[in-house]
Amino acid sequence: MFFLLFWFVICTVILVFGLLEVRQVIIDDQIGELTGLGLSLSKEIAGFEFLDDTELQKFIFTQARISRTRLTIVDTSGKVIYDTEKEAETMELHRYRPEINQALSGEVSSVIRWSDTLKKKMLYVAVPIRQKGEISGICRVSRPLELAISAYPRIRNHILIGTGLFFLLGLCISYFLLRKILGPLDDLSLIVRRVAETGEEVTVRPSLVKLLQPLGADLNKIILKIRELSEAQKSDREVFQSFIDSTEEGWLLVDQDGRIILANRSLRQMFPEIGEGSEFFWQNLRLPVLNELINQARNSDRPVQGQLEKEGRYYTCLVSWLPRRQHYLLKFTDITETQELSRRKKEFVANLAHELKTPLTSINGFLDTLEDEALSPEGKNYLTIIKRNTDRIIRLVEDLARLAEIEEKGPEILREPVDLVALVKAVLEVYRKAAEAKGLKLKLEEEPLPIIMADAFQLEQLLVNLVDNAIRYTEKGEVVVKLQKKEGGVLLTVSDTGIGIPEEHLPRIFERFYVVDKSRSRKTGGTGLGLSIVKHVVQVHKGRIEVKSSPGFGTTFSVWLPASLKDSQTA
Ligand code: ADP
Repeated sequence: MFFLLFWFVICTVILVFGLLEVRQVIIDDQIGELTGLGLSLSKEIAGFEFLDDTELQKFIFTQARISRTRLTIVDTSGKVIYDTEKEAETMELHRYRPEINQALSGEVSSVIRWSDTLKKKMLYVAVPIRQKGEISGICRVSRPLELAISAYPRIRNHILIGTGLFFLLGLCISYFLLRKILGPLDDLSLIVRRVAETGEEVTVRPSLVKLLQPLGADLNKIILKIRELSEAQKSDREVFQSFIDSTEEGWLLVDQDGRIILANRSLRQMFPEIGEGSEFFWQNLRLPVLNELINQARNSDRPVQGQLEKEGRYYTCLVSWLPRRQHYLLKFTDITETQELSRRKKEFVANLAHELKTPLTSINGFLDTLEDEALSPEGKNYLTIIKRNTDRIIRLVEDLARLAEIEEKGPEILREPVDLVALVKAVLEVYRKAAEAKGLKLKLEEEPLPIIMADAFQLEQLLVNLVDNAIRYTEKGEVVVKLQKKEGGVLLTVSDTGIGIPEEHLPRIFERFYVVDKSRSRKTGGTGLGLSIVKHVVQVHKGRIEVKSSPGFGTTFSVWLPASLKDSQTA
């Protein structure tokens, strides 16, 4: 289209300039002819003695007819003596006609102007007549412009037709040339589109390759490269698929609308409703927990984990949001067996603790009775050892029973309004004597707190264990319990000025039965279960626990608890 316009403009410019030029050439030619005629006539006229000679008049009329011109003889005053077209007497003074005026100064002059006499545009040439060296008059030769350029319309038509043909020829040539160039390019773009859209195996025709060297050949190389890459990708995918199919975990990759991108064999075994043809996972797998986890993962920069139950089987599900691909990656692990095992273990421990409690209480009672009996000093010594060890076993059994009781409730804990200040005060009251016996100060620093929704029994166990440890592992100084409002919950800190915990032990002190110093624990009656209870309570309340310690200076345990479940954070 652009080319068509361009070509049209070029042809039009050529045409306009061409026509103007041709017209000018014709006019110049006419001026030349009239000038030649004027010069020869002025010479002839100079041969006559007087300009008003009747012979001269006849001569002039004859010449005008022959040359198809109008002839006018004007004397030096500008008076018309003869005119071949009009009565001279009726004509006005021509002194100031531009061509006459100029000729009177001795020059041959030519002009195109409107003739008032003939009422048409005329081409005039005026030549001075010289007699005896003097200008005696002017011989003016003129011709109507229309007649002078009568050849012009014919020539103009030829030029118009010629240019038109030139225009069309140019168009045809350009069209064929463009077809020759653009045709292969069209083929080429068709090939590129087919490769891009369908990945089809296409090869560029040899004729096209030849025509578009080296572009066509390069394109073939690119197609080959793409084919190689897609083969490699296919084989990588197969390796990847067989790898994830061989894992026990169920893997599911979905886009942000839940459209299934990838699901491995284990996943389809876990959830047979996600068949080969399923498009969206939620069409068949409706689990509210899963939707909740997905929503949480979207707003978190870490993977989110949760547990779900389906038809009597238990799974953990880890959901990660992949922001670059805008996909969710879900990993399902079947924990039914582990869950069952741990349930049985807990049941066994709870039963054992319960069964041991009765005989132990009885033994303890009889030991107390024995103390009153008159025993030899050696016997008394043995009795003290038996009593201390029995106390340890009782403590251990009590801790085990407590842990079992707390764990039995699982994550579904009782949520009741708890006045933490009152609870702490009550616990400190219980321990005041023990602290005083060791010469320790037991302090409480508090600020107005929100009522928190929690399990009061479990929180009491948490406090008992932290305060008990703080007093047991501190020889001098103080134990301070602080309660503060923080991040929509309560921050509880228990600090002591005791022996502290070496840094290397810190990561493990919350494990069951883990003790830092076995002999000292034994001496102080530790079981290694206290902090496990604390950790468990914090976890089920969806809180956080931290410990800071410097050996020789003291330890601080900080527990943050949410005021209600909706403020909770992952522990
Ligand atoms: P234990 O019954 O032995 O105290 P815990 O589970 O309560 O067991 O604590 C685990 C270990 O952490 C203990 O063996 C003890 O060494 C260390 N520990 C706990 N609290 C303190 C504390 N306040 N100061 C020093 N060490 C502590």
